[in-house]
Amino acid sequence: MALVRVSEILKLADKANTSAIGFNCNDYTMAYSVVAVAEELNKPAIVMLYPPDDFESNCCGLKAFSATVHELAEKVRVPIGLHLDHCTDFDYILRAVQAGFTSVMFDGSMLPVEENIKLTKRVVDAAHALGADVEAELGHVGFAANQDQDDKDMYTKPEVAAAFCEQTGVDSVAVAIGSAHGVYLTTPKLDLTRLDAINAATDTPLVLHGGSGIPHDQLEEAFKRGINKFNVGTEYFRLYYDSFREYAAEFGDKGNMQKVPAYIQERMKAYLRNKMQLSKF
Ligand SMILES: [Zn+2]
Repeated sequence: MALVRVSEILKLADKANTSAIGFNCNDYTMAYSVVAVAEELNKPAIVMLYPPDDFESNCCGLKAFSATVHELAEKVRVPIGLHLDHCTDFDYILRAVQAGFTSVMFDGSMLPVEENIKLTKRVVDAAHALGADVEAELGHVGFAANQDQDDKDMYTKPEVAAAFCEQTGVDSVAVAIGSAHGVYLTTPKLDLTRLDAINAATDTPLVLHGGSGIPHDQLEEAFKRGINKFNVGTEYFRLYYDSFREYAAEFGDKGNMQKVPAYIQERMKAYLRNKMQLSKF
């Protein structure tokens, strides 16, 4: 089917009392593996792009990436969304929407709340006019390398969440409840009591970032308590790199570049089958 709006997928997730999973991808092999396993398991999924600064010169143009995911989605029966992850650049966000992204994230989480509201609202107005959804962030999900997941000052305040969602009109909001980006040095512990309070304060679907390395039992609990979108990046990228290394170690000088994608996709799919089981659609 044609690519769907991420808000449609989050509605399905809310109904099923679970979470859709968004995977950061930056090429065909990563996006193809997500779409193929979503179809195999009959679950919706979200392909996300978190572009490095040199993405368009070194990897792929925004339009070309979008066209790739559109084409992959058209070949399957399950709903697939295309989302631009963490972006602070209004013009880049607009270009992504014009290129066919069905959802974008404006990340104003480092700004004072009033400023975050103002700039998020500007993005919401522009994206909605063009038929795309917007995810915002309230509180700040920092970096695991700094142990930011333990810094309660960065956590989302339930009483602010209600006003934020109402005033901005966002389609989903990323919350800081004890997760962080990157590789955790110690096992994270999600603040589920805070999640309950945020979920009670707003009907806007909630998003959990920093998903690599959170124990599955905590994730399952968070999904039951209002998380409808869950982002994975670090684990998936690490696996990609490790699969290249495995191929090189296994085949050495006899390696064949044309056979690399299928070799890697097989490993990516095995990982995705396990991870997507968390989505109880
Ligand atoms: Zn994130």
